[in-house]
Amino acid sequence: MSEKRPTIIITGASRGIGAATALMAADKGYGVCVNYRTGSSAAEQVVAQIIAAGGRAIAVGADVAKEKDVAGMFDQASDKLGPVGALVNNAGILETQSSFSEIGVERFRRILETNVIGAFICAREAVRRMSRSNGGIGGSIINVSSIAARTGAPHEYIDYAASKGALDSMTAGLARELAPEGIRVNLVRPGFIYTEMHSAGGEPGRVDRLVGSIPLRRGGTPDDVARAILWLISDKAAYAVGVSLDVTGGV
Ligand code: NAD
Repeated sequence: MSEKRPTIIITGASRGIGAATALMAADKGYGVCVNYRTGSSAAEQVVAQIIAAGGRAIAVGADVAKEKDVAGMFDQASDKLGPVGALVNNAGILETQSSFSEIGVERFRRILETNVIGAFICAREAVRRMSRSNGGIGGSIINVSSIAARTGAPHEYIDYAASKGALDSMTAGLARELAPEGIRVNLVRPGFIYTEMHSAGGEPGRVDRLVGSIPLRRGGTPDDVARAILWLISDKAAYAVGVSLDVTGGV
């Protein structure tokens, strides 16, 4: 276990990229707030794994799209683990692969609610608490976008792709607004990563289908993405502001 670091809040951290980031962050000495919306037992398992390895972590249920939930999550994280110095906006959803003309308005709303408004609410809460002019300790915000922000995900989920494009723009603005406050805002764009998210799109084996189109000829792992996230948060990336880091195997 490394030196003690500040508290990091990772949204949607009970599985996939979020869980991998939580485990790696704890190993580096961060106190980790493992956020989940549903499935407390999976989140508690991540926490148990961290504590068994000598780390510090709590599981906090909160829907990122609900202001009150998010404020409560930040309160719990700072009360139990100490001042918050990093946020990873990782929670995200997609729905069944579909042509754009078949997508209903309620789905548009669901996707934007979690992927965009949820990330905005979490980032705003982090800014209010971490800004040096508010007495905060500064730190980092990482937005988890997607290669879909570049490709637009035609015939699959243009709504999801556009929601990730919003994070790209938000990162560009927030990075410049917050650098004077001691907060570095950066973004990662994962490519095709082996997680359960693809089941929600209706194709659990999607990554394997696409391997031939990946220059590195393998799908990504949650750890591949977690390493990039934690590098951007770390002092090794102290001069990186408003960076978009593609973690795609070359796609
Ligand atoms: P995942 O489905 O395993 O994890 C997403 C997590 O977010 C889940 O635990 C889910 O419960 C949680 N979540 C969803 N809505 C929430 C809400 N309103 N409040 C709190 N938590 C909520 O998927 P993953 O692949 O680990 O995805 C993590 C992030 O990476 C997502 O933002 C996703 O869009 C992005 N991403 C994934 C891939 C990929 O190939 N897997 C590629 C590009 C980007």
